[in-house]
Amino acid sequence: MGVAEKSAQRTCIACRETKDKDQLLRYVVAPDGVVLVDYRQRLPGRGAYTCITPDCLQVAVKKNAFQRSFKGRCNAVDVTELQQRLDTAINQKITGLIGMARKSGQFTAGTNAVIESLRKGSSFALVIIAEDISVAIGKKIEALVEKNKIYGVRLYNKQAIGQMLGKEERSVIAIPAGLLADSLLKELHRHRQLVREN
Ligand SMILES: [Zn+2]
Repeated sequence: MGVAEKSAQRTCIACRETKDKDQLLRYVVAPDGVVLVDYRQRLPGRGAYTCITPDCLQVAVKKNAFQRSFKGRCNAVDVTELQQRLDTAINQKITGLIGMARKSGQFTAGTNAVIESLRKGSSFALVIIAEDISVAIGKKIEALVEKNKIYGVRLYNKQAIGQMLGKEERSVIAIPAGLLADSLLKELHRHRQLVREN
């Protein structure tokens, strides 16, 4: 049944806590023995799970928990490599969601348009500010983001944000409240937790 499947529980190989599958990261072993992050939890084969924290990743590697879980059929796991693979997976997810926002027109990009909307008290759920935005404009947008009680994050550079939107450089992108924004927020939180605060 769909409902039962959604609440399927798995145990973290590091801390042994049992949680909903979507609160955990899934890993599988590739034919060459490399441990892969199955970020979408769709790859076939035996899976191992960890919490979505740098701590549990590190403990799992230190305790040889991957080898034990995959019954020795995987190569040694390097925690830095694993984190890089995770970074790639999360970034792909974020890029994909921004691509969906682009296709459905659910975004506002560019400093002038975003600042104007924020001043009017927009219904944005989140704002992504390029890391290489000019200092003054970055501060201005961050102040407005705070005032509007919106989630704001410094991520990517102007070129990368522009590329996701099929445009030239863009210093800022804002996403209106809704399902797409909810998914994006979830991934941004994971990104912050795993990649930026490790
Ligand atoms: Zn854990």
